[in-house]
Amino acid sequence: MGALRARFWELPLAELSREEWESLCDGCGRCCLHKIEDADTGEIADTNVACKLLDTDTARCSDYRHRKAYVPDCLRLTLKIVDQVEWLPETCAYRRRAAGEPLPEWHHLLTGDRDAVHRAGASVAGRVISEREAGPLEHHIVDWDET
Ligand code: SF4
Repeated sequence: MGALRARFWELPLAELSREEWESLCDGCGRCCLHKIEDADTGEIADTNVACKLLDTDTARCSDYRHRKAYVPDCLRLTLKIVDQVEWLPETCAYRRRAAGEPLPEWHHLLTGDRDAVHRAGASVAGRVISEREAGPLEHHIVDWDET
């Protein structure tokens, strides 16, 4: 892994190395939840149903390295699409930096604490159900801004 530059998270996203880009993710797990798109309006509803690879207690992917083999449509957030993914939470470091905003104060790059995201209530750890058990997605619509 290459060296991460001091305070690289204050640089424009386009200037980040691959390692710096990857380390921006706070591990909230919101990427790993199913969404339902209304076929007519294009509106997106959130659910509390997690990808089968997500460890629902920790909000970490249980096989990050091989995830594409098991889940071909796993979202890979890139500079090109970061502005188009409208369901990214307000706290998401990519969304915030794309908008020129600072990281949330509990972000692990600022605090050195990867559990702070959970204490801040920004992660899905312990609040979701695996798709292996959930049944129909329509029964699991939630508003994450109000949970
Ligand atoms: S929403 Fe942002 S911070 Fe959360 S898991 Fe996805 S990329 Fe990482």
